[in-house]
Amino acid sequence: MSGSTEENAWEREHVWHPYAPMPNPNLAYQVQSADGVYLTLEDGRKVIDGMSSWWSAIHGYNVPELNQAIEKQLKSMAHVMFGGLTHQPAVDLAKLLLEIAPKNLKHVFFADSGSVSIEVALKMALQYWLGQKKNHKTKFLSLSNAYHGDTFGAMSVCDPDNSMHHLFKGVLPKHRFVAPNIESLRQAFKTYHADTAAMIVEPIVQGAGGMLFYTAEVLAEIRSLCDEYDVLLIADEIATGFGRTGKLFACEHADISPDILCLGKALTGGYMTMAAVLTDPKISQGIQQQGNILMHGPTFMANPLACAVAKASIDLLLASPWQSRVANIETQLKTGLQACLASKKVADVRIMGAIGIVEMKEAIDVPAIQAKLITQGVWLRPFGKLLYTMPPFIASQENIQQINNAIGMQCA
Ligand SMILES: *Cc1c(COP(=O)(O)O)cnc(C)c1O
Repeated sequence: MSGSTEENAWEREHVWHPYAPMPNPNLAYQVQSADGVYLTLEDGRKVIDGMSSWWSAIHGYNVPELNQAIEKQLKSMAHVMFGGLTHQPAVDLAKLLLEIAPKNLKHVFFADSGSVSIEVALKMALQYWLGQKKNHKTKFLSLSNAYHGDTFGAMSVCDPDNSMHHLFKGVLPKHRFVAPNIESLRQAFKTYHADTAAMIVEPIVQGAGGMLFYTAEVLAEIRSLCDEYDVLLIADEIATGFGRTGKLFACEHADISPDILCLGKALTGGYMTMAAVLTDPKISQGIQQQGNILMHGPTFMANPLACAVAKASIDLLLASPWQSRVANIETQLKTGLQACLASKKVADVRIMGAIGIVEMKEAIDVPAIQAKLITQGVWLRPFGKLLYTMPPFIASQENIQQINNAIGMQCA
């Protein structure tokens, strides 16, 4: 284990980490620097970041084009308020997002994190129905095993059985949850449509709620049920956006467009916190029907540094052979990880795009497995029964091989 310094001991007593106790009995590995696919730890060891810093660092680290974009922007301004002021980086990023997103989406709201973008999307849906004088449409329909973030609105549409719901019972508004299969969906829409404002989904790949996949047919059915029953569709592509599943956006697997789309995580190539909510004009106009306007405005909305690096990251992605990179990673994860199915410890192996998941039968001892993975030169952050990787798209064949081997050794 690294970081046995006094500094580290102090930190464990005083600084919170995600979903961690305070004080923290587990050491956090101190990272000295990051370059390409590698994190260099304080003791000099280099590990491949098989997590892309939670889906975000798709180009890896210390990327010259992204560094340059921030440095250049820094010379003119780091930040100005977006209320009543504007700037070129925001305009340029908005244009680019609307060019690459589903064509019906015409309006962009910049938020400061994924969870906040979910709050904005939910608020938009509620305000849309207020605009239609359908004030009773206040419920949301979400999928079992959904994860949409940690703020209160977002928590309320996370699966109640495998999230923090039970801690906030009585505080969280009650919404409805349905399994991603056609029969359950039809039943749920039939039962609940009248007071449902929107259905919210992670298209095709469900992330932190269980790393599960469902089919394009199911996603297409969700879209058509929303149309049939006059329910809005919010697509949370915070994890799946920007190529991770093999398509630029996971909605493309079913050839559908949401009414509201949330983007985050890889939006800035992992450089800064930022999210975006894109909407169909129907939403934006609908909100204003009764003379209201969208009531949201974060202090750091459309931060120029974040806008500049996001644009540079998307430009870099589009100029790269990302499709073949992701396809090659998919092929290699398939050949490498499917061997794990032979192990008695392994319940399932799932691969899509640059996402590889090995589901164990028992809960993983995370600190112990992480220490072993690090000796194999790989950084992963398993949770529950899930050992999984979503590597940077720039990972070489050797890098993926090393990740596969490291995961394989934990399954043996
Ligand atoms: C990470 C994530 C969020 C929350 O984003 P934050 O930036 O962590 O607030 C929401 N939805 C999905 C699908 C995510 O993966």
